[in-house]
Amino acid sequence: MSKYIFITGGVVSALGKGIAASAIGSLLEAKGLRISIQKLDPYINIDPGTLSPFEHGEVYVTDDGCETDLDLGHYERFINQKTSIFNNYTTGKIYHNVITKERRGDYLGNTVQVVPHITDEIRQAIKSAVTFTTDILIVEIGGTVGDIESLPFLEAIRQFRYDVGRENVIYIHLTLVPYIKTAGELKTKPTQHSVKDLREIGIQPDILLCRSEMPLPVEMKKKIAIHCNTDIDAVISALDVETVYEVPIQYKLENLDKIIEKKLCLDNRPPDLSTWQDVVYKIKNPKKETKIAIVGKYVGLKDAYKSLTEALSHGGIANNARVRLIWVDSEEVEARGADRLLSDVDGILVPGGFGSRGIEGKIEAAKYARLKKVPYFGICLGMQCAVIEFSRNVCNLSANSVEFDPDTKHPVIYLMESWYNHRTNKIEKRSSESQKGGTMRLGAYPCNLTPNTKAFEAYSINKISERHRHRYEFNNSYREILTQKGMVISGVSPDNELVEIIELDDHPWFLGCQFHPEFKSRPIDPHPLFRAFIEASLKAQRALFI
Ligand code: GLN
Repeated sequence: MSKYIFITGGVVSALGKGIAASAIGSLLEAKGLRISIQKLDPYINIDPGTLSPFEHGEVYVTDDGCETDLDLGHYERFINQKTSIFNNYTTGKIYHNVITKERRGDYLGNTVQVVPHITDEIRQAIKSAVTFTTDILIVEIGGTVGDIESLPFLEAIRQFRYDVGRENVIYIHLTLVPYIKTAGELKTKPTQHSVKDLREIGIQPDILLCRSEMPLPVEMKKKIAIHCNTDIDAVISALDVETVYEVPIQYKLENLDKIIEKKLCLDNRPPDLSTWQDVVYKIKNPKKETKIAIVGKYVGLKDAYKSLTEALSHGGIANNARVRLIWVDSEEVEARGADRLLSDVDGILVPGGFGSRGIEGKIEAAKYARLKKVPYFGICLGMQCAVIEFSRNVCNLSANSVEFDPDTKHPVIYLMESWYNHRTNKIEKRSSESQKGGTMRLGAYPCNLTPNTKAFEAYSINKISERHRHRYEFNNSYREILTQKGMVISGVSPDNELVEIIELDDHPWFLGCQFHPEFKSRPIDPHPLFRAFIEASLKAQRALFI
């Protein structure tokens, strides 16, 4: 039977609950336990697909085509588990399920209420993330204790312990112990209040993870334990660390694994964290450094590119290098020119995106990279920009994507909506960014690689599967002219209908992919394309040896 760990957060948001949940997962996985992990989000959107990246950060896409919370990206990077539709539920999804059942008459004339109907639905949702191989399910509750919206979730996890037995459930509460500079003191009061709120709901936390700038002295731990009714050894200092991948190691130093083991009545097994130690060593001791420009629209909000920046750092790990990111607003490139903004970088990456704002700046960045032979990595929209640029400046076509100019003379990137509708049985839906119509290609699709190309060289296999989130595609009517002029098509769908990867031959490394490779990169298994891009950037003359 599976055991359950529920993780709540208190005092303030942004304490890193997602990282804490992931790190606990990898610490337990290092003991040989099989972990599953889930996020319950209190907002009413059915999923974050309709949320602006400015609002909620990146939308993470799973293999089965779900648009989910960015925390699922952390889960997949820390834990050897693929997430799916069952790993992320929102209030909206829960209510949607309950209302669908009500309309169907499933409740047999009963009044449908938050308790028990919503809470039952939540409990069922929690169980959906458990498979017959799961030893432990970790469930992260979004939001902060005290929020109105999270109440049904907290009530459901309170009841859960009665469902599956006391010895099978623990509650971990992440809280803040701030350091007040003027008083020169760490303060426990916010933690006490937050635990009081939780206990009022009927949840007694078993373990407290206390985020603080400095280690908590024993006296402080004692004080927290007495006021919050927890064991003193279950008050854990969760210190700020240099890299998030150090968190499992840090938790181990605080004996968190042993405490969890004891409280969940598990066998005593020491964790093997050597792979994580190796990752952290490489991050902290790079041999070289390379500067990569990310030319995008959401450069002010780094969370909008969470998986991307992580994948770049994984590319660095694979090359024993530090990757220094230079954020470039594509509208700035439009206004001031690529020469001014990109002349001292070793590699240029144009990430995914939607909408026409700043698009000419991205196309300009692709042109600059092509002409100056700077390594270029175009992801989704970044590939589309490279195709538009090549069509315009090499093939002399007044080309565009129909996303930016519906009446363009040469729609090199266009909508293949009808194609999807009858060819795929994937989840098809509208997203905020595609409200204007058309379905998105979402989730994992197979791709065949062409031998003797940079893509093939990077992956070293000829069949891959990568995750997509886009509406527009490479227009096959232009395949011939573009390839004649020197563009290489190095990845296609198995039926050869969809162009998935393009590259340039007479260039050190210029590659665009229609999918999002960043979703599948892990620090202990860096993605081949990010590894190859960083390798190529390091070879660029400007690379610095440190
Ligand atoms: N806007 C483009 C499309 O819908 C690219 C999307 C993306 O980069 N994820 O096809």
